Amino acid sequence: MAANPPEKNWRKETLAIHAGDLKDPVFGEVSPPIFQTSTFSFATAEAGAARFSGEEPGYVYTRMGNPTVNALETAVATLESGAWAVAASTGMAAISAVLFGLLNRGDLLVAGDCLYGPSHVVIAGELPRFGIEPLFVDASDLGPLEKALRRRPRLVFLETPTNPTMKLTDIAAASRLAKQAGALLVVDNTFATPYSQRPLKWEADLVVHSLTKALNGHSDVLGGMIVGRDPNLYKRIKRFITLTGAVMDPHQAWLILRGLRTLALRLERSQANALELARFLEAHPKVAWVRHPGLPDHPQHQLAQRQMEGFGFMLCFGVKNGLEGGRVLMNHLRLITLAVSLGGVESLIQHPASMTHAGVPRQEREQTGITDDLVRLSVGCEALADLQDDLEQALAQI
Ligand SMILES: *Cc1c(COP(=O)(O)O)cnc(C)c1O
Repeated sequence: MAANPPEKNWRKETLAIHAGDLKDPVFGEVSPPIFQTSTFSFATAEAGAARFSGEEPGYVYTRMGNPTVNALETAVATLESGAWAVAASTGMAAISAVLFGLLNRGDLLVAGDCLYGPSHVVIAGELPRFGIEPLFVDASDLGPLEKALRRRPRLVFLETPTNPTMKLTDIAAASRLAKQAGALLVVDNTFATPYSQRPLKWEADLVVHSLTKALNGHSDVLGGMIVGRDPNLYKRIKRFITLTGAVMDPHQAWLILRGLRTLALRLERSQANALELARFLEAHPKVAWVRHPGLPDHPQHQLAQRQMEGFGFMLCFGVKNGLEGGRVLMNHLRLITLAVSLGGVESLIQHPASMTHAGVPRQEREQTGITDDLVRLSVGCEALADLQDDLEQALAQI
């Protein structure tokens, strides 16, 4: 049922291209087909029964499994150094499957205080309806995390780098603390991608992704993924996704597999662009501050050097004249597009306080560093000079 097992010593650039290859091509096709079928036939009644019971490998019904979706699952599991991956219709479906599929009434959940907006809203606003209590902590500092873990939560849910504040958590230290407390550590690795950070290598229990972002990379499809190593967690997550119908469809999987093949090329360019733009902005008189893990003055730059295999394509900065300055900047950009989402080949800019994080109460936003002047930039693959010129001319309007 699995796609071609890649060779152990292949590097991530090669794996991004080949880890999703099918083991048994029908006509020698190089690109895996889109198995656009809802159901699969059985040769005999006995074979059908054997397939249903799992005695015989093979497919039954696409909500339960599909070869194209399976190829993408294998590719992402391999890139993350995981043992398995389960695809979901969106990143939020993947995150919801982890939270609703693994937590029970009466459980405590510890979550980073700075998360993708809808993740925060689900944890703070939906889980309590099911008797699951959330506790938000600043996980960039291990002290508050350690203290929260004394209350024996079932699960810890984090982003590193955080959206949009670019704070980091030491994943190895957090997983050590979580294990001691008997909690599972789940890391949303959307910002870094497995190309630049592999939380499972640092002993996180599960990784979740919005494939909508850099893994697909072309701002044209939604998707999510959960990756892990423990077979018992696989069974529970797979069951939850299958039964609730939060699955990915084969066409979606094929598009993301296509995007994934250029992951290394895209990230090498976007990461290099991001670091250069961070340096350019830091030196600009109209810019108040810049945060990017690759800058030596990022408070956790050393952790970034140790934990990450690249500094990512995301950065945030504050312009002089606060919210108004940010508004002027965004309204005068000609190349960089004003839009939410991130990780595409095109550069996107947005204002979290009024857009992605508007659902988070103002006081909580300010506490976690999402100030009104914060502008978030997802750096794409355009020519660096064009991006720089665009920012220069728009900043001049402030
Ligand atoms: C976009 C995003 C999500 C949600 O993904 P969707 O595919 O939009 O559901 C979750 N986490 C992070 C960090 C994201 O950027």
